[in-house]
Amino acid sequence: SSQAEQLEFQAETRQLLDLMIHSVYSEKDIFLRELISNASDALDKLRLASFQDKDLAVDTSDLHIDIEVDKTARTLSVRDNGIGMTRDEVVTLIGTIAKSGTAELRRALAEAKDSAAPEELIGQFGIGFYSSFIVADKVTLLTRKAGETVGTRWESAGEATYTIEEQPDAPQGTTVTLHLKPEDAEDHLYDYTAEWKLRDIVKKYSDFIAWPVRMEVTKSAKVTNDEGEEVDEITVETETLNSQKALWTRPRSEVTDEEYQDFYRHVSHAWDEPAEIIPFKAEGTFEYQALLFIPSHAPFDLFTRDHKRGVQLYVKRVFIMDNCEELMPEYLRFVKGVVDAQDLSLNVSREILQQDRHLRMIQKRLVRKVLSVIKDMDAEKYVNFWKEFGAVLKEGLIGDTENQATLLEVSSFASTASDQELTRLSGYVERMKDGQDTIYYLTGESRQQLENSPHMEAFKAKGLEVLLLTDPVDEMWTGSVPEFEGKRFQSIAKGEVDLETEDEKKATESLREEQDKEFGDLLGWLKTTLESDVKEVRLTNRLTESPACIVGDSFDMSPMLAKMYRQSGQ
Ligand code: ADP
Ligand code: MG
Repeated sequence: SSQAEQLEFQAETRQLLDLMIHSVYSEKDIFLRELISNASDALDKLRLASFQDKDLAVDTSDLHIDIEVDKTARTLSVRDNGIGMTRDEVVTLIGTIAKSGTAELRRALAEAKDSAAPEELIGQFGIGFYSSFIVADKVTLLTRKAGETVGTRWESAGEATYTIEEQPDAPQGTTVTLHLKPEDAEDHLYDYTAEWKLRDIVKKYSDFIAWPVRMEVTKSAKVTNDEGEEVDEITVETETLNSQKALWTRPRSEVTDEEYQDFYRHVSHAWDEPAEIIPFKAEGTFEYQALLFIPSHAPFDLFTRDHKRGVQLYVKRVFIMDNCEELMPEYLRFVKGVVDAQDLSLNVSREILQQDRHLRMIQKRLVRKVLSVIKDMDAEKYVNFWKEFGAVLKEGLIGDTENQATLLEVSSFASTASDQELTRLSGYVERMKDGQDTIYYLTGESRQQLENSPHMEAFKAKGLEVLLLTDPVDEMWTGSVPEFEGKRFQSIAKGEVDLETEDEKKATESLREEQDKEFGDLLGWLKTTLESDVKEVRLTNRLTESPACIVGDSFDMSPMLAKMYRQSGQ
């Protein structure tokens, strides 16, 4: 039936819309960027679908985006002839916040309500389609999925509900129509029916979009009429507003930072600024171009299972897929951008890509490039980078043996040397005592816990620096990375820790013999009493204040790792 059905927005969506509708967000223009970005994605998807599904009867000869204005009705429409959506897709994609991290969003929304700072929220979460409600008090979406015969009409005033109904004659693709808020009508800065304004926004935010963004523009020209008078002739022409130049094909010197930033936001669906822009070009037998970004902020879902790696694959400027896992290792999943390869088939599937030797080569080169950029960051940038992504990068220490040395070089750690600043390993090595050939560390849950550990006493007394490792991943890599620049890693909680010089050793040896005799009875008694819990009881010089401590064998799991395994049910 074609009865209009009224459905309710999910609670978070409702809150979000409420915020949009009532926000005083000053950067209103960005709504158009979001709509064009979605339209562009939809065109990419349709072209790809038509490659992969020969039975899909769609015309892909004129894929484009249209901007249409009705000055009297005060509406603005963005139309694409892309992939479109089914009714169910409209409900799930537009009616709910499908993004992961809904819990985070919920928390942020609650806070935003009190602090009345929706700008930050918008900046943090990237509101996409909903940003329409910054400028519109009613939004109509008309869509028909490629290959289907019946379309869908969706409409909402941004309140608790939306309506959805069948629309038999909808053209294939999607049209989003914004009914512009009356309060902006008077303000010429926010006149989204003005040609100059729309032209301006498209040029500013969406110039690189690969598909033509068209608009009907009026032109006037001086012509001589039949009576021989010079008059203005008004004509209406369709004009393409964007240059459609793929940014990664242009030399860096010709692209402005703003252009790169807008492109970054388009590919990453993020709203922060990139910390690093990395253009890269490989020539020779296998040609490709890449444009990568290191974000300035970690997304909130970086450590959740559904976080996607952020590099898109293009082949000869044709979009092939989002999140191409073969292009970036897991530990660089925060890197965003595109890789455009010249010599792959447009028909590549994920399965083929997994086997592809060339992609492995590309990944290798890109990883080295990204690591070298991190290595060259200035101090301030690096500190922020490490705060945001350090814990992810350290995951690479476990699997990527080839780049282990570089990864160790660019990593930083908390240490007993300073309670403010982190140290790199090179700094630790410089501060090592004469004859010290070991990098000491202790893993645990917090700095405070580690500093109060009895294991620390002898090291404090001797003034030996200890790295204080509190990220869960530290438990993993410390077990598999043997050394840095020839210096062994040694946990101060495991095995025999030898802190004495040769002379000291001789002196204590005789003392130890005496003590062993003196405390022999006690040690024997302790050993029998604690038999079921410990392997051995011995005198130690690792403590200066505490009477006793428990020490793991060199190859034992640390208590924290054991806890992690228990928590994960192993
Ligand atoms: P994002 O683009 O980050 O996924 P949006 O809120 O902008 O988030 O859009 C949500 C989803 O709605 C998109 O992922 C897409 O699946 C769908 N969508 C939005 N606009 C269009 C469109 N013009 N054509 C097809 N699908 C669309
Ligand atoms: Mg979007």
